[in-house]
Amino acid sequence: MGQAASCRVSAATEHELFSTVQNGELETVETMVDEDPTILGLTTVHGRLSALHIAAANGQNQVLSMLLDRSFHPDVLNRHKQTPLMLAAMHGKHSCVERLIQAGANILMFDSVNGRTCLHYAAYYGHSDCLQSILSAANTSPVAQSWGFARFLNIRDGNGATPLHLAARQRRAECVRLLLSKGALVCASTGGYSCPGSTPLHLAARGGSLECVRELLAWGADRLQRDLSGRIPYMVALKHRHDVCAALLNPSAPEPLTWPSYLKFISDLSPEAKALLEGALIEVNKARGKLILKGMPDTDVPIANSVAGDVDPQVSNVEVCCICFEQACTIEVQNCGHQMCAHCALSLCCYNKPSPSTNIIKGPVCPFCRSSITQLVAAKICANGDVELDLCPSQPRRSQKSFNQSEGSSSFKSLSSLGSFTRISGRKFAADGDEGFDKR
Ligand SMILES: [Zn+2]
Ligand SMILES: [Zn+2]
Repeated sequence: MGQAASCRVSAATEHELFSTVQNGELETVETMVDEDPTILGLTTVHGRLSALHIAAANGQNQVLSMLLDRSFHPDVLNRHKQTPLMLAAMHGKHSCVERLIQAGANILMFDSVNGRTCLHYAAYYGHSDCLQSILSAANTSPVAQSWGFARFLNIRDGNGATPLHLAARQRRAECVRLLLSKGALVCASTGGYSCPGSTPLHLAARGGSLECVRELLAWGADRLQRDLSGRIPYMVALKHRHDVCAALLNPSAPEPLTWPSYLKFISDLSPEAKALLEGALIEVNKARGKLILKGMPDTDVPIANSVAGDVDPQVSNVEVCCICFEQACTIEVQNCGHQMCAHCALSLCCYNKPSPSTNIIKGPVCPFCRSSITQLVAAKICANGDVELDLCPSQPRRSQKSFNQSEGSSSFKSLSSLGSFTRISGRKFAADGDEGFDKR
């Protein structure tokens, strides 16, 4: 059809159409289409790109909208069976992604190059905003409903790579984080992509992104899982001379804290509380990693000095956590209403490894009143610094304590208190509260 049209339309017109679409000259394009609607059937000679492809790839949202309004089919294919949506996701043209989805573009189309979907493209090129839009569409669109969200999220390309594999390989930490938080499988193995049997952690080790490695470890990626040639991620990092990543991946290095599976599935964990806990987890692991990486050359990511980032220095009268006496109370336990800092709440829930003898996982309990925790919410900070409940009758109140953010040592103190808390795992905490929480 494109060829038939090009017989009638001169090469000059063709060139003009594509360059005006590319430059976003809305009125000119509109006039050309009004004069001869058949030019919409034109495609470029080499890639067989339609006007819609060109508008999407160049982020020309107005032209794109106009073409869609004239019932231009949103899923027209180019030579490589790529849709305009794939090109918009590839180039990070977020508004075009949204507009195409709104026009009913199919999110479940596969190209003929690598058998990839628009989700693969967004992950590979690291456009987390586009990724987010596509995943939102997956929750509502009929295609993904028939497939199921989890299956769509972990969709494999022609080489068996999921979007998480691609994001990890391409050092797209933001996309890695987003995919994991939506439930992407952290330990899935590839088919033929990269070295067969690679997990996202192998690919992050190959790509050399410390941030991606950290994220994956925090979500429970297994440092000991082998690819089909028998290599663990540590060996991959060493081979490609990513020494800093290798240090964290070394199985003999201390294990990072992982996002507790119990919390992962608390369905009504509010986004606010989730963000606080997630931030605490990354901070703790950074602090741990700092000890491991101490003195390493070529640390590619600067490690934050302000590990105690929870506390807004402007809020001087926040309540200090009665467990660690380091951080502000930001998390409230339901239903009892006791408060603690995000770090302590997190360590309380990092019990998720079942004891090898019993294999039983018990839910976490409040260290103050021993009632089981059903929900964690972000604590409301009272203006006068008082909380309604007397949290720790046995301990002196230490409110109005100044939080020293710049001092690096505070990170190690909070780290060590967190570590010891994890060890005693909340048992009899209230009774022997001095153990591990020594403030000197
Ligand atoms: Zn605390
Ligand atoms: Zn309680």
